Amino acid sequence: MDIFKQQESNVQTYARSFPVVFNRAEGARIFDCEGNAYIDFLAGAGSLNYGHNNPHLKEALIEYIQRDGITHGLDMHTDAKARFLTAFKTRILEPRGLDHVVQFTGPTGANAVEAALKIARKVTGRHNVIAFTNGFHGVTLGALALTGNQHHRGSAGLPLSGVTRMPYAGYLGSDVNTLALLKKTLNDASSGVDMPAAVIVEVVQGEGGLNTASTGWLKELQSICRSHDILLIVDDIQAGCGRTGTFFSFEGAGISPDIITLSKSLSGYGLPMAITLIRRELDQWEPGEHNGTFRGNNHAFVTATAALEKYWGDDQFQNEVKEKAALLSQRFKRICDRYGVTRLQHKGRGLMQGIRCQNGEIAEKICRHAFSQGLMVETAGSEGQVVKCLCPLTITHAELTQGLDILESSFAEVFGQQSSALNKAG
Ligand code: PLP
Repeated sequence: MDIFKQQESNVQTYARSFPVVFNRAEGARIFDCEGNAYIDFLAGAGSLNYGHNNPHLKEALIEYIQRDGITHGLDMHTDAKARFLTAFKTRILEPRGLDHVVQFTGPTGANAVEAALKIARKVTGRHNVIAFTNGFHGVTLGALALTGNQHHRGSAGLPLSGVTRMPYAGYLGSDVNTLALLKKTLNDASSGVDMPAAVIVEVVQGEGGLNTASTGWLKELQSICRSHDILLIVDDIQAGCGRTGTFFSFEGAGISPDIITLSKSLSGYGLPMAITLIRRELDQWEPGEHNGTFRGNNHAFVTATAALEKYWGDDQFQNEVKEKAALLSQRFKRICDRYGVTRLQHKGRGLMQGIRCQNGEIAEKICRHAFSQGLMVETAGSEGQVVKCLCPLTITHAELTQGLDILESSFAEVFGQQSSALNKAG
């Protein structure tokens, strides 16, 4: 452990929550060097939707490496990229009626967001972009300007500009339609808000605490955008790739975004890869205008293709995700009922659900206790007050139940401690 303390920057985050050294992982389980096993409800912050070292993806990758397939190819044409584009077109875009081109950006989510912002500004000739409260879009400067979280924004070192913040769905309570403000602002020439190039939205706010937007809210948002020629960007970096039960998180809402960002579980194997999907008419880039050395991670293309071929040919996988999501809802509701609906709130959708606690301290205690019992789970939200489950979508029923049992007993432990402290104080 000393080497990490001595040599690694203080900026490290997840390592603080899970202070062990890991050396092996398989499916929904990760192991430390002492041989302890943990059920993984973090899944690489949502980048391992198909589990650690998924055998189907691993087999395709090993075969490709063994035949000396291109590893790094800048953005040149390779057979691996051709196969990915074909699989993505036939299995994802065409069945959903999406006529978008694929831009290979730098390999992080934040870079896909930067590309989305730049093309939206270029195409519309406008500079302003609407982002929502508690939105998280990455930590490079353009993406950071969209991100709400003050802890992250504070590190920018210069003013973050070009963004107007609007209240996300439910921000002012369940009975207030927050889009009324956006509508009024855009229709009022003296609102002081410059007509935006784009609106960027997450259908489920992953880092922001599992806040969800309803179908009605999303449809209305799209209609507001259309009526002002504002581009609609859906940031599906965390909620996409099946996390909410469909490949894109917005599918159930029946909207058709102009631009979509994807990363995290796109390669399916934890290999860095990101894309920005751009409605064909909007693809007004000049060659090389948005550049980057690592836009050709062919190993990621191979595993991404294997994932699309294995899981996205029919509805079976999606149906399994929906069944697991129903189990998660049921168990989380039970925990909320047991420990008081006034202090706990069930949040999220699909296999990105969680429980909001009174504060971040309690949520953190629950996660730390869970880790001591063999479950890796993290918090989200402005103060880390939401215990968030992001298990692999491929988790078995038995592992999911085992993980949920540990989580439930961690709530019992922390709330038991709380009541005994209160009783003593009384
Ligand atoms: N957008 C969303 C919705 C995210 O959840 C994240 C990361 O959590 C990002 C963008 C940034 O992705 P990355 O951390 O790969 O830059």
